[in-house]
Amino acid sequence: MRVFKLVLPLVQGATMALSKSFDYVIVGAGTSGLVVANRLSEDPAVTVAVIEPGLDQRNNPNVTDMSKFSLAFGTSIDWQYKTTEQPGAGGKKLSLPQGKAWGGSSAINGT
Ligand SMILES: Cc1cc2nc3c(=O)[nH]c(=O)nc-3n(C[C@H](O)[C@H](O)[C@H](O)COP(=O)(O)OP(=O)(O)OC[C@H]3O[C@@H](n4cnc5c(N)ncnc54)[C@H](O)[C@@H]3O)c2cc1C
Repeated sequence: MRVFKLVLPLVQGATMALSKSFDYVIVGAGTSGLVVANRLSEDPAVTVAVIEPGLDQRNNPNVTDMSKFSLAFGTSIDWQYKTTEQPGAGGKKLSLPQGKAWGGSSAINGT
């Protein structure tokens, strides 16, 4: 049921978007993508679409509560990238958290 509630708006949104054309399509609703979308959409004559695989996390305390900084790492709102093996770190692969949510990495960067 929960998955259905999450997926349905995405499918509806994608279907609506596919049936339209836009002046600008921005890939990624991260920090910079949303600034660009905001600036472009100040002109009411311009249409803007933003494509983002992450979801709205405004009700996620790991995003909204700064004291929970780092708890979102390794969860579904983190792309969970790793480096290659690092010779200077004993061959370890290091974690590179990157946000997968509305707001992108600003959703997991603490402030
Ligand atoms: C843990 C952490 C702590 C940080 N701390 C600070 C700090 O203290 N001070 C500071 O100034 N900065 C900090 N940063 C850096 C700051 O958050 C980033 O520099 C900034 O958010 C990057 O913005 P961006 O728009 O380039 O990318 P992002 O905000 O990461 O946005 C990229 C967006 O693109 C989406 N995306 C990715 N692939 C695709 C695809 N194929 N199709 C569609 N969408 C896609 C992602 O889901 C994401 O929403 C921190 C970052 C992290 C991860």
